[in-house]
Amino acid sequence: MKKYYVNKNAQGNGDHEVHAEDCIYLPNTGNRTYLGEFSSCIGAVATAKNIYPTTNGCKTCSNLCHTR
Ligand SMILES: [Zn+2]
Repeated sequence: MKKYYVNKNAQGNGDHEVHAEDCIYLPNTGNRTYLGEFSSCIGAVATAKNIYPTTNGCKTCSNLCHTR
């Protein structure tokens, strides 16, 4: 299980990226919302969608959930 976070700031395309706790692109504490512990990014992205309608997995740490 890993801890996952969603970036409070949207990307240029409007997506809020989901990151694992060990990602090099993990946003600073003030710029991220804790989602919980998940076995993969799938549950994390689903949870993030409850907060932000447009989310996407980070290409680096959550490539499985990176769709665009
Ligand atoms: Zn990441």
